[in-house]
Amino acid sequence: MTEDSPAKSILPRVVPVMVPMPADRPYSYAVPDGAKAVPGSIVRVPLGPREVAGIVWDGAGEALSAKRLRPISEIFDCPPVAEEMRRFVDWIAAYTLSPPGLVARMLLRAPAAFDPEPWTEGLRLVEGAGPDRMTAARNRVLEMAGDGQAWTRAGLAHAAGVSSSVIEGLREQGVFETVSIPPQPVVAAPDAGFAKAELTPDQEAAALRLRERAGTDAFSVTLLDGVTGSGKTEVYFEAIAAALERGKQVLILIPEIALTQAFLERFHDRFGAKPGEWHSDLAPKKRERVWRQVAEGQVRVVAGARSALFLPFKELGLIVIDEEHDPAYKQEDRVFYNARDMGVVRGHIGDFPVVLASATPSLESRVNANQGRYERIVLSSRFAEAALPDLATIDMRKAPPERGGFLSPVLIDAMRKTLARGEQSLLFLNRRGYAPLTLCRVCGHRFQCPECSSWLVEHRFRGQLVCHHCGHNEPRPEACPECGTLDHLVACGPGVERIAEEVDRHFPEARTIMLSSDMMGGVKRLRLELEAIAKGEADIIVGTQLVAKGHNFPAMTLVGVVDADLGLANGDPRAAERTFQLLAQVTGRAGRTGRKSVGLLQTYQPEHPVMRAIVTGDAEAFYEREIAERERAGLPPFGRLAGIIVSAATRQEAESHARGLRQAAPRATEIDVLGPAEAPLALIAGRHRFRLLVQGTRRADLQGFVRAMLERGPKQRGSVRVQVDIDPQSF
Ligand code: ADP
Ligand code: ZN
Repeated sequence: MTEDSPAKSILPRVVPVMVPMPADRPYSYAVPDGAKAVPGSIVRVPLGPREVAGIVWDGAGEALSAKRLRPISEIFDCPPVAEEMRRFVDWIAAYTLSPPGLVARMLLRAPAAFDPEPWTEGLRLVEGAGPDRMTAARNRVLEMAGDGQAWTRAGLAHAAGVSSSVIEGLREQGVFETVSIPPQPVVAAPDAGFAKAELTPDQEAAALRLRERAGTDAFSVTLLDGVTGSGKTEVYFEAIAAALERGKQVLILIPEIALTQAFLERFHDRFGAKPGEWHSDLAPKKRERVWRQVAEGQVRVVAGARSALFLPFKELGLIVIDEEHDPAYKQEDRVFYNARDMGVVRGHIGDFPVVLASATPSLESRVNANQGRYERIVLSSRFAEAALPDLATIDMRKAPPERGGFLSPVLIDAMRKTLARGEQSLLFLNRRGYAPLTLCRVCGHRFQCPECSSWLVEHRFRGQLVCHHCGHNEPRPEACPECGTLDHLVACGPGVERIAEEVDRHFPEARTIMLSSDMMGGVKRLRLELEAIAKGEADIIVGTQLVAKGHNFPAMTLVGVVDADLGLANGDPRAAERTFQLLAQVTGRAGRTGRKSVGLLQTYQPEHPVMRAIVTGDAEAFYEREIAERERAGLPPFGRLAGIIVSAATRQEAESHARGLRQAAPRATEIDVLGPAEAPLALIAGRHRFRLLVQGTRRADLQGFVRAMLERGPKQRGSVRVQVDIDPQSF
């Protein structure tokens, strides 16, 4: 690398480098003579026997070895990671009590992108040159390339419909010259004024206010709270347009973006180009290119999963978080973080606006709006003539299913009528597989996972019993392993496979599609099925929550929830909120066009406040009650919580380590420690788990308290592992 001369003398010769390891601080490295490493530079450094990619950090580094300072091996030709991104990493590390190196690792997930994309060799027509003899094939090639553009060989051959030997022949005759073609953008540039939708007066008012708030370079959070189908997307597109007009990059977070490809099309319709996509199902090559072009500022808008928060934006100026209530925003692996909350932090650090959108906002966001920290914009009706579905409960005690079935005659009747009208029904059950429990009718033996405290779920299609926590699977036997009796194993309770079987029995003539995340064929197949549903190529859909989110199915007029009580069963204080959100979202799939639509909830507790809220549509009363209850109990967002999970190979080790941590808790008036108790899942993948819950007031320094516990508590030994979960999902 060449040196910009005057700076040479003042550039530091020793720099701190953050490596993608569980490191608490950056390490010191020497900068080779003549090289230029600035804060944010991505570099390759030796670490022990290997080399890793790291980021030149700020402040001072820690010496790895007292004797010898090792030099940086390479400084990549890559835009430096912006200062605000480095502060973001530091902030998350401090908040989640994770080593900053592990947080930085999330930023370094596209190693091949640190080097510039190579230029490709191409061909261009030489002016005035012609072939010795014209053929039909040559003529097509010359016509294609007649615009004077550079083409790749393969691209030109394909476009002209000829073999590459035709092209090569022309090149040999000097008709083409070879040229270098720079890397092409992964997506074209969006145009803020491309095709603005005509908004309804309500939408227009919302968009105007959003433009006022989100159209400036100052931090703010706006909660766009609009019923399903109200056109929140159209409205926040206007905020995006405003950011683009300001010359800023935009990040849109969407749960399950891999499965909501229709979103990319809608964006294209509005802005004349697709956004860059970012999620784990992206082909590696595409990932690398998106990463690089986000860093260079070529990609202006990214639509991504939560990990897109760690893309190295050059000039980010707006974050939109769609379905902000969605539990999928929580990462519970290594660094435990909630991308909704961290997105707000990112906006605060970068001093730009954040928009949260949802039909069923999280309680946290509602409280933030009530207390004036966020502004709430409400859209209370659906777009155009579309009406919200009529919602009702089916009391399963009064209208029970026939023997061996799970669908009430009331629901089956509604499905029959829907089918007769040529419209679609969706049956929703949030449980994969055929049956959640298998037992022996003779001796009562239940099939349990050998590694986890959970039952094995039968997957009949695959002929297996599967653990949904660790993936353990075994063939479903014919005989009971306990008493040896043949053919007396029974499936208890339903999963989607079993519901699909029941549907086939009642409606053999219908086109039925079953969808769940573990389906063979993966994401590709799921996308095709979702497209088919949107095009009306299915009559009845049986699915898990992946059909509940974000889709527009125009022909769908009936949604039946097979077990509306399912999520209420666990004792979690958040259960009611979660169930309400899920039921409102899934029933919201019905009635996207003008047709009359219905949502039916099968329940054994039709008087439950969640069912009442869904049926009456009175979300306000429900939120008020829930909020009051949380406040009374001092639970989030009125108090703060941290979970500490201690796991180990033996129950005894896990428990004694957890007790040791509890004893190490400092004295504090605003903080209590609850437990240790067995974690909700006491055994996962062979590891025994205990949990401590730290509960504090809003003002309490929870992080400082937990850090003190970990520092003063027993050292982690043997198989013991401790994980800290600030703001846990369940409590
Ligand atoms: P939400 O995100 O609030 O559920 P969407 O933005 O998905 O709602 O809008 C629901 C449907 O209504 C979509 O098919 C969308 O294209 C359509 N729609 C909403 N507003 C408009 C508008 N102003 N003009 C045209 N179509 C609209
Ligand atoms: Zn298991």
